[in-house]
Amino acid sequence: RGLPDNNLLKSFSTDKDKSAVAKIKVVVRKRPLNKKELGRKEEDIVTIEPNSNSLTVHETKQKVDLTEYVEKHEFVFDAVLDEEVSNDEVYRETVEPVVPAIFQRTKATCFAYGQTGNGKTYTMQPLPLKASQDILRLMHHTYRNQGFQLFVSFFEIYGGKLFDLLNERRKLCMREDGKQQVCIVGLQEYRVSSVDLIRDLIEKGNATRSTGTTGANEESSRSHAILQLAIKKSADGSESKPARVVGKLSFIDLAGSERGADTTDNDKQTRMEGAEINKSLLALKECIRALDSDQGHIPFRGSKLTEVLRDSFVGDSRTVMISCISPNSGSCEHTLNTLRYADRVKSLSKGGNNAKK
Ligand code: ADP
Repeated sequence: RGLPDNNLLKSFSTDKDKSAVAKIKVVVRKRPLNKKELGRKEEDIVTIEPNSNSLTVHETKQKVDLTEYVEKHEFVFDAVLDEEVSNDEVYRETVEPVVPAIFQRTKATCFAYGQTGNGKTYTMQPLPLKASQDILRLMHHTYRNQGFQLFVSFFEIYGGKLFDLLNERRKLCMREDGKQQVCIVGLQEYRVSSVDLIRDLIEKGNATRSTGTTGANEESSRSHAILQLAIKKSADGSESKPARVVGKLSFIDLAGSERGADTTDNDKQTRMEGAEINKSLLALKECIRALDSDQGHIPFRGSKLTEVLRDSFVGDSRTVMISCISPNSGSCEHTLNTLRYADRVKSLSKGGNNAKK
């Protein structure tokens, strides 16, 4: 079998290299205008300069006398990806750099954040497969015969409850083991050694997610989907002893950010779900804040989502946030909200607000 032609095998074989990967990285991805928006002749209000890490949103406003003017909002992030950028490039920019680190006890988490319809799933779905390809390559080459094993699990959090996407959406519960570890009781975990098997499992989980109990897209925009790749190894590297987790890579397709605002809906169920989503998105931001400022205390208990991710936030962790935005004028307010959320996560590492008017 030929060696891969990417740089992965060459890189990050030492702890020193690992520390070169940013602890928190915030990336924005803009999708193209879709057919409906083009049909309505909506304007593209998000401009990205080539090869820059900044973007500008052009917001049309009205004065008291109803004359219109444009207010510009400029944001700077670790990377800004325009509509021409492929999913392969997104992978290279976001997840690829952290993959080798998970063989060295790192827990890495990649989130997709944004309004429903902005490309979270489009962005997120290919990433675990690409990452598993690279993990298997590393296991077969750099870490050959060292006893590493790869496991996959896939579940969702809906209305504050956990459901196994690889086991007929069976309801799951969480337990703490007293050592700051969270255990999801009954979660199916599959040991995988081929990309084909991983692809089948991901497809199975996605199909289960979108054919839940009620309307498909309606429901999936209200749930957080969590796919985890865990690397395990037994103490002596043998197959006969129980394997323990060495590192983990989690992919989280978050509920639509607009759903957090459903707290005034007439329907009680929708209102409660909106409040739960709002709580989890706020708690997530608080946890990332705490991580970035190296505070001892990480407020995991703020939501089910952050509780579940607790073991990914302690110790040596890496976080990648991909904020997905749409370019159309009709989504201006949501786009600004998404960018402000991302900016608050990002600006922490800069010690201030990095948005410019
Ligand atoms: P979300 O998960 O945020 O609700 P989706 O990922 O389902 O959004 O994307 C909505 C639609 O937009 C899909 O039809 C998807 O194929 C398309 N889309 C999203 N991002 C892109 C992109 N970068 N390039 C091309 N099409 C995209």
